[in-house]
Amino acid sequence: MALIVHKYGGTSMGSTERIRNVAKRVAKWYRAGHQMVVVPSAMSGETNRLLALAKELAPSRQTDALCRELDMLASTGEQVSVGLLAIALQAEGLEAVSYAGWQVPIRTNNAYTKARITSIDDRKVRADLSAGRVVIITGFQGLDEQGNITTLGRGGSDTSAVAVAAAMKADECLIYTDVDGVYTTDPRVVPEARRLHTVSFEEMLEMASLGSKVLQIRSVEFAGKYRVPLRVLSSFTPWDIDIEQEARSGTLITYEEDEKMEQAIVSGIAFNRDEAKISVLGVPDKPGIAYNIVGAVADANIEVDMIIQNLSKDGRTDFSFTVNRNDYARAMDLLKTKVLPALGTETLVGDTKICKVSIVGIGMRSHVGVASKMFRALSEEGINIQMISTSEIKTSVVIDEKYMELAVRALHRAFDLDQPPS
Ligand code: ASP
Ligand code: MG
Repeated sequence: MALIVHKYGGTSMGSTERIRNVAKRVAKWYRAGHQMVVVPSAMSGETNRLLALAKELAPSRQTDALCRELDMLASTGEQVSVGLLAIALQAEGLEAVSYAGWQVPIRTNNAYTKARITSIDDRKVRADLSAGRVVIITGFQGLDEQGNITTLGRGGSDTSAVAVAAAMKADECLIYTDVDGVYTTDPRVVPEARRLHTVSFEEMLEMASLGSKVLQIRSVEFAGKYRVPLRVLSSFTPWDIDIEQEARSGTLITYEEDEKMEQAIVSGIAFNRDEAKISVLGVPDKPGIAYNIVGAVADANIEVDMIIQNLSKDGRTDFSFTVNRNDYARAMDLLKTKVLPALGTETLVGDTKICKVSIVGIGMRSHVGVASKMFRALSEEGINIQMISTSEIKTSVVIDEKYMELAVRALHRAFDLDQPPS
């Protein structure tokens, strides 16, 4: 007997018909002798619908008071899901009980709309499991120290499921979703993209932060911290598929590098259009300049990603960095009105038509020439690289967004990702 956590995404919970299928799948696992905890998302589209209602009424300024109510509102989507799923499981002849986050309780800090889980009291859940019940817990929501309902940020049900699995030391956490695993890249861009049977936790972390939307990044961080056995798999296989086969399907997140002897050097290509580039030209080349620019931006709570400072000429240099596109206008405004005047320069150039394309792989640690191979593949397509950043297991470039798909395809080919690793 194992303790298993299942997480079902919004699409899997999208209709009563689909919820019935989820119930049948969970019942199959339960009848195979496992203790089952299930964490569903809201029905697909529901969180968007709720937040759109708020938008019709809300002032534009996001105050703490408003964010509290957004969480009160948005958390209801998951409450509907757990109730329906418990009803469906009971209809399957199982004993099932559902809990909202606050009933468990799942404790969080008080950062409304992006709260972090601080602790989970699993006593009630354990008692139910021992009594033979299937336990269903809302994804996405928690309770702060003052008793307010909080939510974990969009896609947060992944994190709820992983956190529950970590707290209960579950044998495995299975994330059922509308794709059948983690791919070498988005198959909508590269039809030859392959599903990875395993991916290391560190690669998954990079891919999640670089734009692959399969798992919420916090859930991957959580999984890594507590080494939660985690698998991403499809909820669209027939519910009565052989359980052994199902248990081996999808993509397993691994923690030991040597589990992956057939490791390819590059495991995946990630990309996103979420960033914009800002350049401050002709700033004095002296101590404190980077701090003046980036510090001011960070103080406004704007995250800076890639940074480049050029060689100086005549005591002046150019300084470029990227920010999230949503923060672009605010960052430009701040620089124009506050920072540039103090630096004695006026030239500010911005570009929102960029994208970031990255190659990711733990094999990069032990191989040289990976970045140069990337640059060659891009140059052969005539694609100009505007910025570069590297870490131990990834290399990212910023390029013109109109070449994004071409770049992703070229890199997928250059690193032989169309073929299974030999
Ligand atoms: N329902 C929430 C959302 O749409 C949480 C989740 O689905 O993971 O973001
Ligand atoms: Mg999701």
